[in-house]
Amino acid sequence: MKVRVDEDICAGHGICVATCPEVFRLTADGFSEVIVDVVPPEHAAAARTAEEQCPENAIEVEFD
Ligand code: SF4
Repeated sequence: MKVRVDEDICAGHGICVATCPEVFRLTADGFSEVIVDVVPPEHAAAARTAEEQCPENAIEVEFD
């Protein structure tokens, strides 16, 4: 599973980072970026939760 953040949509709430810091982090500009190429299976559920909770729908999940 892969995830990506649409940087044109992300508003920098940081909810994704709080939900799944193993996959997302905030940049110096205050927006979210994905820090893994492939989401480790043990963090997949949290990454999905982050996707669901993103207020801007800025997170896309791609399944293998
Ligand atoms: S929750 Fe959504 S809008 Fe907020 S920082 Fe994460 S990706 Fe960006």
